[in-house]
Amino acid sequence: MQIVHDIGELRRAVRAIGPVAFVPTMGNLHDGHLSLVRLARSEARAVVVSIFVNRLQFLAGEDFERYPRTMERDRGMLEAEGVELLFAPDERLLYPAPQTYIVRPPPLGAELEGRFRPGFFEGVSTVVLKLFNCVQPSAAVFGKKDYQQLVIVRGMVGQFDIPVAIVAGETIREADGLAMSSRNGYLSAPERAEAPRLHRVLSAVSRGLPPAEGLRELAQAGWRPDYIEVRRRHDLELPRAGDTQLVALGAARLGGTRLIDNVEF
Ligand code: AMP
Repeated sequence: MQIVHDIGELRRAVRAIGPVAFVPTMGNLHDGHLSLVRLARSEARAVVVSIFVNRLQFLAGEDFERYPRTMERDRGMLEAEGVELLFAPDERLLYPAPQTYIVRPPPLGAELEGRFRPGFFEGVSTVVLKLFNCVQPSAAVFGKKDYQQLVIVRGMVGQFDIPVAIVAGETIREADGLAMSSRNGYLSAPERAEAPRLHRVLSAVSRGLPPAEGLRELAQAGWRPDYIEVRRRHDLELPRAGDTQLVALGAARLGGTRLIDNVEF
């Protein structure tokens, strides 16, 4: 596996290996990320993964500084998957000057996650656009774990006519249902035992439990829920009569850790 830190070097390497499928990540890899790598493999002959903890998508007071950075371990995992190219830019390389041009997402960017993390989807959209311009992949793979991110990236690619096929990967879970996440490592042992409740509640909502009841159950179990909502899958708008392709989405804090999850139905 070739590891590149520089954009010029990255472009030369991508040109040499031909059309690539791309998996952007913030590192601290787990089986969820690796499932996306395998999906990418089915989209193109060569796979490029990026590891970059994007300061732009963290709010003041969030976990940017303590976000787990485990490059050596991640690198071994990607080698074992046969990834051709790892792009691991230094922050000074990707943001040599303050990023004053910012992608402004549609109103959806201020709902759900965006209501509790204002500016988050601007940071995500901006870095994804930058990474697409650096890597110039033919396809890029995103996890359904971050459902709203997937919908917003898909919309951006559509409206900016970016020639990248967006492919969605299923959420990979622990045996007890907890969605794999780099942030699960923040959980204490009792919190880790409690954490699958979020998925259980969202599954119950997908079977008809009113979201308000789901919020109550989480609060009673010591969580501080941000939201539980049912939306349409393809555009995350509120369901209208006759919509059948839906998703229950939720976010809640357990101790100092904020977890998100969703269940399609
Ligand atoms: P992150 O490193 O958290 O920014 O995530 C990088 C990519 O991995 C995003 O497309 C996420 O949606 C995806 N991802 C994160 N967790 C999972 C999971 N448990 N299953 C599938 N994809 C995931």
